[in-house]
Amino acid sequence: MNIKHELIDFFETFKFNITTRGHLFVISGFSGVGKGTIIKEILSRNPQIYFSVSYTTRRKRENEVEGVDYHFVDKETFKKMILKDEFLEWAVVNDNFYGTPKSITLSKLENNIDVILDIDVKGAIQVKSKLPNSTTLIYIIPPTGKELLNRLYKRNTENMDEIATRITTSLIEINYINAYDYIVVNDDLGKCIEDVENILKVQKMSSKVQSLSITANREAE
Ligand code: 5GP
Repeated sequence: MNIKHELIDFFETFKFNITTRGHLFVISGFSGVGKGTIIKEILSRNPQIYFSVSYTTRRKRENEVEGVDYHFVDKETFKKMILKDEFLEWAVVNDNFYGTPKSITLSKLENNIDVILDIDVKGAIQVKSKLPNSTTLIYIIPPTGKELLNRLYKRNTENMDEIATRITTSLIEINYINAYDYIVVNDDLGKCIEDVENILKVQKMSSKVQSLSITANREAE
């Protein structure tokens, strides 16, 4: 058999297999931009995605559930966890500690499960530098400052002083948004959710996330 025919025969047996690795999707945005609502909808449509529940020292809001929205702990417990290296990343945000638990997050990724993190810019940069090929950073912005303030006043979960702290944080975060892979505007909620879902889908097809292997297809042999 000449070499060209041999190559054709060989190629005919090929079966292409794609394995998809677990990926970390970091979703950040100004306080009050609607991240929580966007993430809840994405998780209900994609139950295979795991949401990482952070630890925080901030007080629990009335509508929040321990273990679902956050693990609420005191400052001493949080500091001990830092010293025991139990966080993938942690940061002080709006005068409180927040952190992503390390072992559960990494074990999900090892088991090829995608993870969503709702964390701030300082956390996002830490995660991206630790796991550059497994992390995609998405930042949600409001259409205008006034719109964001109206949402914060309407949800009525913070007093004026706390709102002022959150706006100060947003003003600092503005300077880091260009470090993100994607920026999405939450003007129309439905469109914004669709945009984030599309980013998730496209990113999962990237060669950073997928690996290709070739096996011999017996039927063709
Ligand atoms: P909130 O108090 O409104 O729930 O969250 C305040 C900010 O803390 C938000 O920007 C949120 O994304 C961020 N955050 C929540 N959990 C974590 C975390 O585990 N690590 C970091 N770095 N930020 C977090």
